[in-house]
Amino acid sequence: MAQTQVVVAFHAHPDDEVILTGGTLAKAAAAGHRVVVVTATDGRMGNEADNPRLDELRSSASILGVDRLECLDYADSGYGPDFYPDPPGRVRFGRANVDEAAQRLASILRAEDAQLLLSYQSNGGYGHRDHVQVHHVGQRAAELAATPRVLEATMPREVLTRIGDVARLLRLPAPYEPDVVRAAYAPRATITHRINVRRFAQQKRDAFAAHRSQIGDGLNARMFGVLLRLPPQVLGLIFSHEWFVDPAAPSGPVRAPQDDIFD
Ligand SMILES: [Zn+2]
Repeated sequence: MAQTQVVVAFHAHPDDEVILTGGTLAKAAAAGHRVVVVTATDGRMGNEADNPRLDELRSSASILGVDRLECLDYADSGYGPDFYPDPPGRVRFGRANVDEAAQRLASILRAEDAQLLLSYQSNGGYGHRDHVQVHHVGQRAAELAATPRVLEATMPREVLTRIGDVARLLRLPAPYEPDVVRAAYAPRATITHRINVRRFAQQKRDAFAAHRSQIGDGLNARMFGVLLRLPPQVLGLIFSHEWFVDPAAPSGPVRAPQDDIFD
């Protein structure tokens, strides 16, 4: 086995850890690496007393084999045109002071002596303001902690189109609007890491299912609903890979994406 490494995956909300990196984290954990997940928000829009999302996150993390889980406790900023005021006593992550949030993430990166930070692209994938903020805070934290490598979790835009096609075929609601798909994530040719996670598809599905409260309404929920109803063979196809962009890689089309986040 290669030398044990430490990867810190920084995410916006409980459930993002599965959607973009669940298979990769399960694969890294299975290979004996140390896996740390940090979420910026606890998934609450306000100060609801009852918040199942952190418990769901804990279940999901344990299914994936995560060694340590931290939450920075910002409030969810919400998706869509309305950017609501901060709830009493808390700051929405989209309005967080980047340096302050980055200091907190950097202290985890330093304490863990992390070789790799997983973060998001500057477009925040599909544009959620908390996901855009993950990019800024992640980038700054990696600078502060001198973390040697950052990979930005993404997916080929083309895959979103395919998910839409499958949903249509199965007469399920399309998970994303067409205008979101056109500018989302990254074109396939720019992806530097394509991780084969087929062996971890079931773990990913189970971790998805742990986020029970998200199968209600909204954008993610629609995607959840679609995915959880797919037959296993289709699930294996959709969950066969996860993708990352190395922001330090030379620009231009990538000829052969790596199959290991530590390469
Ligand atoms: Zn999210």
